[in-house]
Amino acid sequence: MPEYVITPPPQAALAVAGGGAFPVRRIFCVGRNYAAHAREMGADPDREPPFFFSKPADALLTREADMPYPPMTEDLHHEMELVAAIGTGGADIPESRALDHVWGYAAGLDMTRRDLQGQAKKEGKPWEMGKGFDASAPTGELAPAARIGHPAKGAIELRVNGAVRQKSDLSQLIWSVAETIAYLSRLVRLAPGDLIFTGTPEGVAAVRRGDLLEGQIEAVGSVRTRIV
Ligand code: MN
Repeated sequence: MPEYVITPPPQAALAVAGGGAFPVRRIFCVGRNYAAHAREMGADPDREPPFFFSKPADALLTREADMPYPPMTEDLHHEMELVAAIGTGGADIPESRALDHVWGYAAGLDMTRRDLQGQAKKEGKPWEMGKGFDASAPTGELAPAARIGHPAKGAIELRVNGAVRQKSDLSQLIWSVAETIAYLSRLVRLAPGDLIFTGTPEGVAAVRRGDLLEGQIEAVGSVRTRIV
């Protein structure tokens, strides 16, 4: 052990449904991966190559903790997403073997300061501060693929204060989880502990302090947070 000059940070982790914890290394996110969401964002939903951005691992918000309304925004949006957790790393992973690298799946929220993201887009600047801020990734328990398999279809839904805001099906993903892993692993060597937020369906909208967000993905799990 080196003699650290400050206290090392705690290991970011997700609780595993049924017990145990999954240590989280990096969080990759896919942009515009449902055609109807690409359209609502004013983009062309044609099958362009997938593109990625990141959040720091300590942006995770777990165990249904409250999410503090973040600073420097007046337009905090929810994006309900399927999260794939990488158990076995690799580079240049072929699509046919990609799902072997997934340890499990969770329901997650890619919370977005839409005003900062929009301004960055307009000015050709990085999205980082629109996306990778503190507590920007509320995520539910991780369900092992060994138990639930690899969901290619199934309802994905987000309710805000009990009313349905986002509702789609995993079959509507433009780039499947396997295709996404294959593509991303050509850009970076994936490592055990990496999470991939696979993109949001349509219906993204603003939330306010006091709102209760409850997301559900069929056969995967749920995510829940209150904005405070
Ligand atoms: Mn997203």
